[in-house]
Amino acid sequence: MDLSEKIRTVPNFPKEGIMFKDITTLLQDSVAFRKAVDDIVEYFMQKDLHFDKVVSTEARGFILGSVLAYEFHAGFVPLRKPGKLPAEKIKQEFKTEYSTDAFEIHKDAVKEGESVLVVDDLIATGGTLKASVDLVEKLGGKVNGIAALVELTFLNGRDKVKGYDICSLIKYDKE
Ligand code: AMP
Repeated sequence: MDLSEKIRTVPNFPKEGIMFKDITTLLQDSVAFRKAVDDIVEYFMQKDLHFDKVVSTEARGFILGSVLAYEFHAGFVPLRKPGKLPAEKIKQEFKTEYSTDAFEIHKDAVKEGESVLVVDDLIATGGTLKASVDLVEKLGGKVNGIAALVELTFLNGRDKVKGYDICSLIKYDKE
């Protein structure tokens, strides 16, 4: 199965000029969703990597992140938009392909030295990913893997997180 066929491209959403990669068409397909999860699990299992925590981003990252946490027998940690987390937290601002945003993480969500998998739905300019990695590392976690369904390789998001092991399933080298 070619997972890329399951992604719907919506022009000019949410802003003029953005080719939005809609993953809901993949998620609603039971076979494609399972394959996407299985492929990511296999990628990291083959490397004998284990994770204590899966850290993922509001909101689309949660869908994949929670399933991966279950598969890796890891805990799940949400990175949330400001003002949503109730307890003591730290914050990181960042820019995406089409917005400026910020995430917060609970201070006690990742412990010193824990092995972490960072998960998002899509890598564009890499701003979101870099902020996610920074938050984990500020808490003393070790980012041993990054996973995403889609990567827009022409935006060079990987350059912002050099040296990390990134598994992205569907790559677009142009819009
Ligand atoms: P970036 O920080 O530029 O790598 O942007 C990644 C984040 O923004 C991800 O959480 C995506 O959900 C969202 N995003 C950015 N560009 C797109 C796009 N072309 N299609 C769908 N989502 C996108």
